Amino acid sequence: MNIAHWLLDAAQRWPQRPALFEGCRQVADYQDFATRVRARALQLRHGHGIAPGERVALLMKNSCDYLELLYAIWWSGAVAVPVNSKLHPREAAWIVGNAGARAIYTDSGRTFELKDLPDNCRELPGYATSVPTVAPDHELLEPCPRRDDDLAWLFYTSGTTGRSKGVMLSHGNLMAMSLCYPLDVDPVQATDAVVYAAPMSHGAGLYNFIHVRCGARHVVPESRGFDAQELFGLAQELGQVSLFAAPTMVKRMVEQARQQGYAGAGIKTLVYGGAPMYLADLGQALDTFGPRLVQIYGQGECPMTISALSRELIADREHPDWPAIAASVGRPQSCVEVRIVDADGQRLGPGEPGEIAVRGAPVMHGYWDNPSATQEALVDGWLLTGDIGFLDSRGLLTLTDRSKDVIISGGSNIYPREVEEVLMQHPGVFEVCVVGQADAEWGESVVAFVVLRCPGGLDAQALNQWFVTRMASFKKPRKYLFCRELPKNSYGKILKTRLRQWLQDPTGSIADL
Ligand code: AMP
Repeated sequence: MNIAHWLLDAAQRWPQRPALFEGCRQVADYQDFATRVRARALQLRHGHGIAPGERVALLMKNSCDYLELLYAIWWSGAVAVPVNSKLHPREAAWIVGNAGARAIYTDSGRTFELKDLPDNCRELPGYATSVPTVAPDHELLEPCPRRDDDLAWLFYTSGTTGRSKGVMLSHGNLMAMSLCYPLDVDPVQATDAVVYAAPMSHGAGLYNFIHVRCGARHVVPESRGFDAQELFGLAQELGQVSLFAAPTMVKRMVEQARQQGYAGAGIKTLVYGGAPMYLADLGQALDTFGPRLVQIYGQGECPMTISALSRELIADREHPDWPAIAASVGRPQSCVEVRIVDADGQRLGPGEPGEIAVRGAPVMHGYWDNPSATQEALVDGWLLTGDIGFLDSRGLLTLTDRSKDVIISGGSNIYPREVEEVLMQHPGVFEVCVVGQADAEWGESVVAFVVLRCPGGLDAQALNQWFVTRMASFKKPRKYLFCRELPKNSYGKILKTRLRQWLQDPTGSIADL
């Protein structure tokens, strides 16, 4: 089934329900939304000659047009390739070439030099001024028929650990992922408003489907991005707001909320994930917003759908084991099985750390045009996530790290995450990232990049003292490097590769990382 049927169905059931909002202003009900999508689908097919199965890329900031174009692409039977709008046009052109996209929508319609795009790919303006009206008896009254395993979304990974790969997600993958949301993350009602404060090309965009299915409101902030103050205004005006936010965004929301004395009115659910949320930050978020937080763990290869930690477990701070529960990523979601395996693929028991493997309906079909990477990632029907973690006897999954991030020092495995947790609890520490550095004596040694709340307020000795009273001293950082901020990609993930590169070749000031 073509997932665009969810839009047709919503328009038939609830034509007058409010659908698309720019800030607090409604710009379309479900009938308008579907009509415009169909018009754009016809334009794609006849105006631009895009056939079913062909790829169409989007390099745009968040907007209502973005949602319309995604659905138009699926309605016409084509495949969407959403590209992170913060990428350099050259990087985007690489993705377009790799995906063999026939067209790319951009905000201005003039982002690329003609020579940068492949010959058979044209740039199109993403804004809606030219949407034609459609004769009611024309074709594509319904979305073009697609099978569950037909490709729908080519999802280019954020490339924090190497060159970006095109994850192949089918209509069936997207449906399975979406149906887990009300079961495992948060029930959805028509009165809800999903706000796109993080890029639609990534996790936030994937949450559109279930909200279309339930006829809820879709809200793009006027800033077209993340602005905590604007978000609070929207929540108070629109009510029942839910959003996906990376932990760094949650942290900024907490700071802003504290400054203006806001306590979360109008926010229904804040779903966080995509990177570790440290306990110290989670505690502050709960103090500020109350029981509004839910955590998910996923990756492009099994989008948003490996595990979830429920609102109730997160909020239950009276539970004697709360620190361990809150540091976990929760239980496997409804459509997947999760197991922990060793380097030979053998299943490990409760409490034993190993690679997290996952199997189920949302798992990708492979990497686009990359059979060797596909073979490495999908083994006997299981997706090897590259994340290290353990399952406990209650079925809770805890991530310790990415397999590539584990530091082996003097033969012992040190998980950067646990070192970071301890340092983050220090009241003077704002952010921290721990990586390994080659060391002649130990193989690797632990290095902590630290951002302080007050620059100059702490030194290495003070942090060491803090550390050794809380954790085995063989895990103690050998070096603390103080910086103004940590380099992050546009999804808020810390670029560990950049930090490692700097350690290898520390040219330039640490402040310019
Ligand atoms: P991406 O494919 O770019 O979304 O990155 C996915 C990776 O982000 C995962 O493999 C994890 O390493 C990390 N990640 C995702 N969700 C979480 C989470 N809730 N806690 C910690 N790390 C996470």
